[in-house]
Amino acid sequence: GMKNVPVLVPAHFHAGTRENIGTIFDRRDFVKLDLSELSAGQRSEIRAIASFANVSADMMDALPNLEIISSFGVGYDSVDAKHAAAKGIMVTNTPDVLTEEVADTALGLLLMTVRELGQAEQYVRKGLWAKNGPYRMTPTTLRGRTVGIMGLGRIGLSIARRLEGFGVKIAYHNRSQRNDVSYDYYPTLVALAEAVDTLIVIAPGGSSTDKAVNATVLKALGKDGVLINIGRGSTVDEAALIEALQAGTIHSAGLDVFENEPNVPQALIDLPNTVLLPHVGSASMHTRKAMGDLVLDNLQRWFSGTDVATPVDECVKADVRRHG
Ligand code: NDP
Repeated sequence: GMKNVPVLVPAHFHAGTRENIGTIFDRRDFVKLDLSELSAGQRSEIRAIASFANVSADMMDALPNLEIISSFGVGYDSVDAKHAAAKGIMVTNTPDVLTEEVADTALGLLLMTVRELGQAEQYVRKGLWAKNGPYRMTPTTLRGRTVGIMGLGRIGLSIARRLEGFGVKIAYHNRSQRNDVSYDYYPTLVALAEAVDTLIVIAPGGSSTDKAVNATVLKALGKDGVLINIGRGSTVDEAALIEALQAGTIHSAGLDVFENEPNVPQALIDLPNTVLLPHVGSASMHTRKAMGDLVLDNLQRWFSGTDVATPVDECVKADVRRHG
């Protein structure tokens, strides 16, 4: 059985999943997410981690019998998967089960930003409709826009399918062109930004996209430009974005992710042309349960000796397998 397999679980993990892990495995609660709370003896017992994020090389090295990191979420930029793969540690994530939810949220954020729906809703709540008359006509519209997607992967494609229904033109930038879509491809982000007036970022975080949306890209997007970021905060140069929004270099931005979450710069909060969400892309009970079930499924598969459902690329390439 698996009841003697110690699994480290953050105390604030998805509650239902924590409970299920405790039923099947020997759950070890991890409160401060700091290994100093475990003795050397306790550390050497740990064979698996259920995690959201932030599993560093140091942390892996401090757990000598660690076999698998079952990560909650599709983005695993804060798990050092290269280090894990090199050590023969499996890393899994939760792709697909959140794709449609995140795409829904992206479209909501886009509409909120372009049609000022959040601001208009506040107008009603503050009693300003009866007092001052109709909310203003929005200077921006989705009509006639060309939407560029940075990161036409699982979620990006799902966003594109929705955008087709909205009757806008679609283009994209990935490192490599897809052969299964007819949207215009731009080999650089700045070329995409020049060609479109609306940019949706849904690429992974990490070094390859770090601050990729910089002052040059924002300038290329132009003064009617709308930036939507639902990928990772690290992909946008936040200081450059604040400057561009203040100066009118672009028109507005809708953000679900930030450089230093949960801290949102006061400058972004003070700007009238931003829509700010607290990283809720996948955050419905339905979808978070599906993600948690996949975290558990990967752990059970690993310890029963079958192939995990969703290994990350680094571990597939390194052919990480369970021995013994
Ligand atoms: P996929 O791996 O299916 O898609 C990622 C896409 O990004 C691929 O098309 C890839 O193409 C492209 N890409 C990767 N690196 C770069 C780069 N350096 N420059 C340009 N394009 C790049 O992932 P998903 O669609 O499932 O998820 C995407 C990301 O969305 C996650 O990694 C996560 O960070 C974020 N996310 C955010 C959520 C939220 O709550 N806000 C929820 C879920 C996910 P190519 O390899 O050809 O470059």
